[in-house]
Amino acid sequence: MLELKEYRLFRNQCYVDGVWCDADSGRRDAVFNPATGEELGTVPTMGVAETRRAIDAAARALPAWRAKPAHERSAVLRRWFELVMRHQEDLARIMTAEQGKPLSEARGEIAYAASFLEWFAEEGKRVYGDTIPSKSADTRLVVIKDPIGVCAAITPWNFPSAMITKKAGPALAAGCTMVLKPAPDTPFSALAMVELAVEAGVPPGVLSVVTGPAAEIGGELTSNPTVRKLTFTGSTATGRLLMRQCADTVKKLSLELGGNAPFIVFDDADLDAAVTGAMQSKFRNNGQTCVCANRILVQDGVYDAFADKFTRAVMELRVGDGFAPGVQQGPLINDAAVRKVERHLADAAAKGARVLTGGKRHVLGGTFFEPTVLADATPDMSIAKEEIFGPVAPLYRFRSEDEAISLANDTEYGLAAYFYGRDIGRIWRVAEALEYGLVGINAGLMANEVAPFGGVKQSGIGREGSKYGIEEFLEVKYLCMGGL
Ligand code: ADP
Repeated sequence: MLELKEYRLFRNQCYVDGVWCDADSGRRDAVFNPATGEELGTVPTMGVAETRRAIDAAARALPAWRAKPAHERSAVLRRWFELVMRHQEDLARIMTAEQGKPLSEARGEIAYAASFLEWFAEEGKRVYGDTIPSKSADTRLVVIKDPIGVCAAITPWNFPSAMITKKAGPALAAGCTMVLKPAPDTPFSALAMVELAVEAGVPPGVLSVVTGPAAEIGGELTSNPTVRKLTFTGSTATGRLLMRQCADTVKKLSLELGGNAPFIVFDDADLDAAVTGAMQSKFRNNGQTCVCANRILVQDGVYDAFADKFTRAVMELRVGDGFAPGVQQGPLINDAAVRKVERHLADAAAKGARVLTGGKRHVLGGTFFEPTVLADATPDMSIAKEEIFGPVAPLYRFRSEDEAISLANDTEYGLAAYFYGRDIGRIWRVAEALEYGLVGINAGLMANEVAPFGGVKQSGIGREGSKYGIEEFLEVKYLCMGGL
């Protein structure tokens, strides 16, 4: 296998104002492979000064970028899409090296990431306005859409490439410019994506990327008045903090925060389909997604049968280095993630949960963890309230539809929910009663570029993807034309 440094798209500098550069201080931070612990390389430790330069560059680049006909911006995004797909293998390998997910999943994420560039290249051409019948004969009322302006994006490590295109795609298509701060665990995927943006013809200053300490860079991105919008994906705790920091300059916000997804299996569900859906939803990315099933609620009549089938499927999962053929579960991102999973498991065990399979660190060592199923989980356990973000599937027992709905909604989160059943009346009732932004009905996977992704309650603000995604980067401007 090639060393990461030998990949054509490997970049270990930041891109600010059209130039690949190092931190002013010359300092660098190391990035590690979570499967082996080996150091993959280093990236610049940038701070306030470099972030400010990137913001100033974005402001200077804005007038020309927003003035381009949508077709021209679209052509650049389309080329970016094509380059990402052309380099799918390299990008996937960089991702597996720094993030740990199996190579097949990484390839899938690159295609998913690319799809947002293709989609928004097209949506950018369809930023329509309105004409409104006037209340008087001598005026005409018109609505046009303006790009918001300079945007900041802060992205997480669990989808190192897709989170960038979900944000930069619609922003650039709408005519905004952007400064990006990727997660410190996965900067090489971000830098490689930006390299392809440059090759596609994104002009200097339109998209810059800075790496370094989150609080320092985030502080500048959220306090600088030139930045008109922050788009963030990450934890609810950090989202709250950033929202507070944005208050002083009244920035627009899109927040994709944590989830606590219920996955409900009703008595009339197709149990094999429910097991397949639960496996997809729970174990994708080793349980490290904000839409992963966090609480599997199973109706009394099928609880034992579901627990048995599901546990057998989980025992088949192959754990290992993401580069090894056939591996389905990579390592967790870092040791803190493993310790968090262990804390949840200790709490659940103390409160009466039973381990059906797994339950401890994997013999492979490092941050590998056994895929785990817990029976007899109850709402007083920490796993019922917090995002697990690991390969642990707790099963809860319920009796009635009303009980399932009230358990499902008993959380501050409202991102994704899933349920399996066949009764058409119940499908409508439950779909409407769930307080969630996304509901999978007999479906364990639902995110794609054509549909709106986002949460309600403390899971966030705004939507990504779909025709709604571009609206997040547009302002409505009302023109009242009088004196006709
Ligand atoms: P996680 O716990 O999954 O790492 P975080 O919300 O901490 O989630 O991280 C998501 C992104 O937010 C990362 O890019 C991280 O560096 C960034 N981040 C974390 N804390 C701050 C902060 N105080 N200001 C700005 N960005 C932050």
